[in-house]
Amino acid sequence: MTTLDLTRRNPDAAPTAAEAAQAAAPAAPSLVGLTRAGLSAALASVGVPERQLKMRAAQLNHWLHNRGASDFGAMTNVSKDLRGALAQAFTLARPEIVSEQISVDGTRKWLLRMPSTGRHDRGAEIETVYIPEEGRGTLCVSSQVGCTLTCSFCHTGTQRMVRNLTAAEIVAQVVVARDRLGDWSGGAAPEGASVPTDGGRFVTNIVFMGMGEPLYALDEVRDAIEVIADGEGLGIGRRRITVSTSGVVPQMRRLGEETGAQLAISLHAVRDDLRDVLVPINKKHPIAELMEACRTYPGASNARRITFEYVMLKGINDSPAEARELVRLLAGLPAKINLIPFNPWPGSPYECSDWDTIERFSEIVFRAGYASPVRTPRGRDIYAACGQLKSETKRMRAKERMALEAAE
Ligand code: SAH
Ligand code: SF4
Repeated sequence: MTTLDLTRRNPDAAPTAAEAAQAAAPAAPSLVGLTRAGLSAALASVGVPERQLKMRAAQLNHWLHNRGASDFGAMTNVSKDLRGALAQAFTLARPEIVSEQISVDGTRKWLLRMPSTGRHDRGAEIETVYIPEEGRGTLCVSSQVGCTLTCSFCHTGTQRMVRNLTAAEIVAQVVVARDRLGDWSGGAAPEGASVPTDGGRFVTNIVFMGMGEPLYALDEVRDAIEVIADGEGLGIGRRRITVSTSGVVPQMRRLGEETGAQLAISLHAVRDDLRDVLVPINKKHPIAELMEACRTYPGASNARRITFEYVMLKGINDSPAEARELVRLLAGLPAKINLIPFNPWPGSPYECSDWDTIERFSEIVFRAGYASPVRTPRGRDIYAACGQLKSETKRMRAKERMALEAAE
């Protein structure tokens, strides 16, 4: 495991007066991660005439999201005057990388700090994980800071501070990954980018399986997917984007209709009494209701199956009878099953099922026709695996607030 601390000092320390003043000053907004509509609005605000907006927004989208430009000077087909006007009003800033950890298996985890949104906020922190595999690379992105839901086996659910990320903040996670991996079109990988080198791109797939419940941030997730899937920008197609939900049934249809993303369901139990405990949103939307929403999910088919995630918890949900019930429950649905060995975190109340038990469970599922159902755990040594993400973001302490106020 390697850890690079990319900040100068302990993130929990009180800010210096200069940092407090900088945090309190309204920073110029960044254009990175904006939709084409957002870019058009930015262009209009610096005086670009209406008839040019579409074309200019397409140019910016190309430079920002296809080439990864971090400097307005690189935008050679944009006039010097316009570049100057944009540079006055906007930046191309990315979230700050607080730390980067690299697992022995090549998985990378970044702790990112978002720009401050006001004087009582030093900037929310979130985590993003890159998982290199044979022939593809998956980026696991966060949609919220923390999570309002409290699934009993998930570390993120214990984090207090919660807000939705903006669409640009979601997209920025992909931009940061491409920066660090040297994964821009025409770019060269930086030294030490130990990722697959089959000639293709490094980040080929996106999963919304980081921090947060994406269907509680659906507007932001929808806009982020629009930018990520744009063929002239980041260019990661909708079939390579998977959104995982704990079961926010009323938003599932919209997710399908408005994003065309692949759906994953955090099922984890086959009976309501157990699912009520593991995934408490089940009390609002029980299993039968969830299954009905899956049956009518727009675009699901044998070629585009719904993934059902099932975390293996020792002695809790891992019996052969439950495996058989799982198969029965999914009968007739275009489904894939993903058994996730439980990833423990400090103080977690469960243990991972024994390997023999997982094998017995997966054998039952396999015989029912579901191929390779067990997910290989990745990045466990750096706490980067599913459900282990939890940033150090806390509510700002009184001392820090006073420092900010004194600086104003
Ligand atoms: N909130 C969404 C997406 C983020 S969680 C959801 O719940 O689906 C991504 C996946 O990790 C979910 O299937 C979640 O149930 C699972 N998960 C959470 N904690 C875990 C843990 N400690 N070990 C293994 N999987 C976990
Ligand atoms: Fe939230 Fe998903 Fe964790 Fe449940 S499993 S607490 S919904 S992030």
